[in-house]
Amino acid sequence: ETALLSVRDLRVAYRTGGGRMVEAVRGVDFDLYPEQTLALVGESGSGKSTLGLGLLRLLPRTGHITGGEVVYRGSDPEGTDVLRMEGSRLRRWRWSEVAMVFQGAMNAFNPVLKVGDQFADTMRAHLPRQRLGKAQVRERSAESLRAVRLEPGQVLDSYPHELSGGMRQRALIALALILEPRVLVLDEPTTALDLLTQRAIVDMLQELRAERGFSMIFISHDLALASELADRVATMYAGRIIESGTTPDLFRAPRHPYTVGLIRAVPPVRAGAVEPVSIPGAPPNLAQLPPGCSFAPRCGHATDACEATDPALRTVEARPAGQPSHEAACLHWESVRLDTAP
Ligand code: ATP
Ligand code: MG
Repeated sequence: ETALLSVRDLRVAYRTGGGRMVEAVRGVDFDLYPEQTLALVGESGSGKSTLGLGLLRLLPRTGHITGGEVVYRGSDPEGTDVLRMEGSRLRRWRWSEVAMVFQGAMNAFNPVLKVGDQFADTMRAHLPRQRLGKAQVRERSAESLRAVRLEPGQVLDSYPHELSGGMRQRALIALALILEPRVLVLDEPTTALDLLTQRAIVDMLQELRAERGFSMIFISHDLALASELADRVATMYAGRIIESGTTPDLFRAPRHPYTVGLIRAVPPVRAGAVEPVSIPGAPPNLAQLPPGCSFAPRCGHATDACEATDPALRTVEARPAGQPSHEAACLHWESVRLDTAP
């Protein structure tokens, strides 16, 4: 099967105060397949949002893509080089092919505009050539809201503050899906919500994906949610993917000490189960990365070799031809187990 989105050696840097460039995404590779969900997990500052925004070319002004390739294969099997798209072509591609629900976006609805008007604005901005009439816009908005299990009559004429957090988040998902994109990027879509609402949204995303067949990139620091939604999981650390595999590969047999640390830090569902253990130390300063493996200073497996060389991702378990394997960037992957300290 051909990937819908292929990312190769993607690099993103931010220009900082002193005019220095700091790399926040440092050579990321992955493939996203049709109807699959890829979860990106990792601690705060690991570069998850930067990667998501980079894919859509929506970085803030200080952010620059400094290298790599993003190939999108929608209706054109040859693929389109996303990093070369410009102007109206890029705007059309965005939202109608790949849409994003931004981190913290729940409060990003314009407070003085009714939700329905914001839907209309989005559609008109991204479909400039189609002369959409009022009734048509309203019907498509209503359809998208029904898809996320919201009552259009109630929502379209409301102001954002009149909706609950969960309803606002659903409305944002409806807005992202309104042009029926093939890829939906969700950046921490449930973080500000209570557990029951989180669960309801994750269930709804599952159902929607089954109905409509889009692919998702689900960015989250919540491993439990990620494991429910994702077919594949990639762990990010200091701007790199340091482990990736199928969801069972990663959660049952993680091979990078950092992934082990993340899993062991998850509070248990049942009382009396193993107590969570947090990873000691803090992520490195991206402007002053250690020379070898960037996790080595926090890692119980680290040896001199780890401090000397930054290990590349290597296959730790092969999959049948054509399927991406389980990969980890650790010299000591063979001795890494879920039941040993990270
Ligand atoms: P979180 O889980 O907190 O959302 P994240 O994994 O999404 O974190 P990013 O927001 O992508 O991480 O940040 C990655 C790195 O880039 C961090 O070191 C952050 O400080 C830096 N960074 C992010 N945005 C900017 C910016 N606009 N200017 C400069 N540096 C930035
Ligand atoms: Mg983020």
